[in-house]
Amino acid sequence: MKRVAEVRPVFVHHIPESLVAGDLYISVEHGTVVHLCCCGCRKEVVTPLSPTDWRLIFDGETVSLEPSIGNWAYPCRSHYWITRNRICWAAQWSQDEIDAARALDRSVKTRFYKRRDRGSKKSRSTKP
Ligand SMILES: [Zn+2]
Repeated sequence: MKRVAEVRPVFVHHIPESLVAGDLYISVEHGTVVHLCCCGCRKEVVTPLSPTDWRLIFDGETVSLEPSIGNWAYPCRSHYWITRNRICWAAQWSQDEIDAARALDRSVKTRFYKRRDRGSKKSRSTKP
C-alpha cells in the first residue's frame, strides 16, 4: 500500500462513483468532502462539513481540513491531518482515546443543536 503524501482538491457538484487516490473531492453544495484513505487502503473517507464536524479552509490554492481525520472504523486505523494539501501523519489512538473522543463529539453535538434549536425558536417568536 502506498501512502499519499499530498492531496489535490477537486471541487465537484456530486461526488463521483469511482475515486482516485490522492484526490480530495469537495462538494460545497452537499457540504461534504470525500477521499480515499491516505494510507493507501483505498477505503472511502467521508468528512461532512458542519459546525460540529469538519471545517474546510481553502486559501485559493490549497485546502486544509480540521480537525484531524481518524479512520478508527477501518482496519488501518490511520490518523492524519490535511494541512495545505499535505498529509501530516498523527499518532494512532488507543481504543480508550477513541472512545473518549467519540463521547466528546456526541456531547458537543448535543449541546450545539440544543443551543441552536433554542436560538431558532427565540428568533421565530420575535418575528411579526
Ligand atoms: Zn487506510
